[in-house]
Amino acid sequence: MTRRPSWRERAACRGRLDLDFIDPTDEQVDQCRAVCAECPVRELCLADALTSGEAWGIWGGLDADERAAVAEQDGHPTPTVRPAHGTNARYAKHRCRCSACTAAHTEYERERRARLRARRRGAVARAYVLAEPVRCGRTWAGAGQYLLPLPGVPPLREAEHDLARPAQTASTAA
Ligand code: SF4
Ligand SMILES: [Zn+2]
Repeated sequence: MTRRPSWRERAACRGRLDLDFIDPTDEQVDQCRAVCAECPVRELCLADALTSGEAWGIWGGLDADERAAVAEQDGHPTPTVRPAHGTNARYAKHRCRCSACTAAHTEYERERRARLRARRRGAVARAYVLAEPVRCGRTWAGAGQYLLPLPGVPPLREAEHDLARPAQTASTAA
């Protein structure tokens, strides 16, 4: 676990749960800046944000655009461009919990789980055992042999999708 910089202990924004310094609303921006103006560790806070290329929120009284301008002047890393609201990237990487980002994250997770389920199903159900020898290009695949269909190639026959009785199927065919 990393120790937070000691200047944070003296931050004027500490405990100001009424203000969101990370993603303030338009109305809150000026209030945040007012707190920063009185903050005893303003310089340290700003220096930290500039050094790390912080792309989020109000630090040392400056927002991301203002820090980008200072960074360009002073040779600090340029704050990265934040993804738009309503994207999973902004939810996951920038911890935005607004309703649009939360909805995007929910949808992303739903699709990811669906892809995972489909992959797991495919690993078991799409392999099939041959009931009788079939020609595979220039060669023959023997009865009882497991095959995985190629993408876009339809299964050989419904009756051949019988993973429950591969041995019996093979011996019957032989
Ligand atoms: S300068 Fe502003 S954001 Fe930084 S520690 Fe002080 S009050 Fe918090
Ligand atoms: Zn958001």
